[in-house]
Amino acid sequence: MKCSICGRTLTNKYKFCPDCGASVVEEKTPDVTQVVDEVEKENEKNTTAPETKKVQGFAIAGFVLSLVSIICGNGFATIVCATLGLIFSAISLAKFKPDINKGKGFSIAGLTISIVVLAFELIGLLANWTIFWY
Ligand SMILES: [Zn+2]
Repeated sequence: MKCSICGRTLTNKYKFCPDCGASVVEEKTPDVTQVVDEVEKENEKNTTAPETKKVQGFAIAGFVLSLVSIICGNGFATIVCATLGLIFSAISLAKFKPDINKGKGFSIAGLTISIVVLAFELIGLLANWTIFWY
C-alpha cells in the first residue's frame, strides 16, 4: 500500500501517513464500499435464478400435493394435502414472473385441483353432518 498523497510505502499499521499526515483509513474507505456495492450487485444477479427455481418448485409442489390429496381419497390427509397444495399453488402464482418463470400451468392446475378437492371434501363433511344431525 502506498500513500496516495506523497507515494510513501506504508504498512497496514499506519492510520496516517508519517510523512505527509494524510489519513490512510479515509483513503481506503471508498474502495471498500465500492467493492461491497459490486458484491451486492453480483448477488442480486445470482439470486434471480434460485428465486425462479423456488417459484417453479412451489408450483410443482402445489400440483403434486393436489394430486396426492385425490389419491388420499377421503378424510383428514386429503384436507391437509389439498390445503397445502392450495397454499403452494397460490404462492407460486402470486410470485410468478411471466418473463422468467415457467410452469404456470402447474400453479393453475394445482390451484384448481386443490379447490375442487376441498369443495368436494366440504360437501362430503356437510353431508355427513346433515346425516348425523337428522
Ligand atoms: Zn504521505
